[in-house]
Amino acid sequence: MMILVENLNYVVDKELNVYESVDILIKKENEKTKIVIGKNLLEKENLNKKDLKIIDGKNKCAMPGLTNTHTHIPMTLLRGIADDMILQNWLNDKIWPNEAKLTKEDVYYGSFLGGLEMLRFGITSFNEMYFFSEEILGATKEIGLKGVISFPIIDFGTPESKDLNKLLKMAEKFIKKHKDEKIVKPAIAPHAPYTCSKETYTTCKEIADEYNTLLHTHISETRYEVVEMENNIKMRPIEYLENIGVLDSNVIGAHCVWITKDEVKKLAKHNVKVSHCPGSNMKLASGGVMPLVEMLNEGVKVSIGTDGPASNNNLDILEEMKITALLHKAHRWDPTVGDIDTVLKMAFDSEILGFENNDIVLLDLNAPHLRPVNNIKSNIVYSANGNDVDTVIVNGRVLLENKKFIFGDKFLNNIYKKIGKIKEKFN
Ligand SMILES: [Zn+2]
Repeated sequence: MMILVENLNYVVDKELNVYESVDILIKKENEKTKIVIGKNLLEKENLNKKDLKIIDGKNKCAMPGLTNTHTHIPMTLLRGIADDMILQNWLNDKIWPNEAKLTKEDVYYGSFLGGLEMLRFGITSFNEMYFFSEEILGATKEIGLKGVISFPIIDFGTPESKDLNKLLKMAEKFIKKHKDEKIVKPAIAPHAPYTCSKETYTTCKEIADEYNTLLHTHISETRYEVVEMENNIKMRPIEYLENIGVLDSNVIGAHCVWITKDEVKKLAKHNVKVSHCPGSNMKLASGGVMPLVEMLNEGVKVSIGTDGPASNNNLDILEEMKITALLHKAHRWDPTVGDIDTVLKMAFDSEILGFENNDIVLLDLNAPHLRPVNNIKSNIVYSANGNDVDTVIVNGRVLLENKKFIFGDKFLNNIYKKIGKIKEKFN
């Protein structure tokens, strides 16, 4: 069914054009979702009310779906389990021992919780990396979000298998099985250069190339890993990844915090995509600040990620947009960087994941912190947060309306109950 959102106060489209007092029509054409923006669309498009789902756009602003290009959504289960700790202790004492207790079923429910959280906050596409990928993919499809679900590879194994060769085979099988799906895409994720060998990376790259998928990996998140690599092999992580033939346009690197200008040039040269995760970097005190300005000047495609909820501690891209803008201004003593348009473009860029952004998010402007509207784009970046999201339409389907999930409260309460049970195993 076509959807007509009538009498919207504002629309910001993916090219960042702003419209006032317009309607939006969302329709399917040859299986593709098309969006029409204009005045009086009911008459202009010759529409019949009985063929339409009509949504009242009064006191609302429409914008494209937000994208979260680096996350680990089942880690919603570990939200708040450990904060304010040194990274290595946080991982060794809290995250890894508790992750080891998670079953397939736990990961499924954690994915559901994370998926619903993203939907509630207007995120319609995301790039995931966590074990039990099959369960994450299943939950993503059930909710109806667009997701790149990467199968994670670590040399010492994951809870799915401790045998690296077996993991690589499982990854290939997972990709083969799901490569033709429409709203979810499989991918492969060698964890990081300090947890995966050269052979692991090159095998993952071969698989990504063969099946035309993304290769999703962490790069230069902490100074420690960079110094270790420099000491051991006299190369920095990006130099190393270039050297072994991994840097390419199908690579999406998360963090890229501790990198030099020369490494930025290498990312640009090979068309590597970057997911900037400022909230997580600040919370884990990774130290450096990703060179956003240098990356954009060199033409690197940069988007925004929340990272996992254990190091953020939510999946709110609207909040992350403001953090991005503020971090770079503070870091460079320059209020002109991390500007509104730059940040909006990063947050709307689902094409980085291979998804056309034909999704619509309605923000509820009926809130004191969103009045007056002198500049709607400014209100989105600097004043709004995820709770202001009112309605979310993904691929022409309404999944959240008036801040309520289409799944209903009973379903949601059941998820909360399951999550409560899983929590009992942690310490
Ligand atoms: Zn991560």
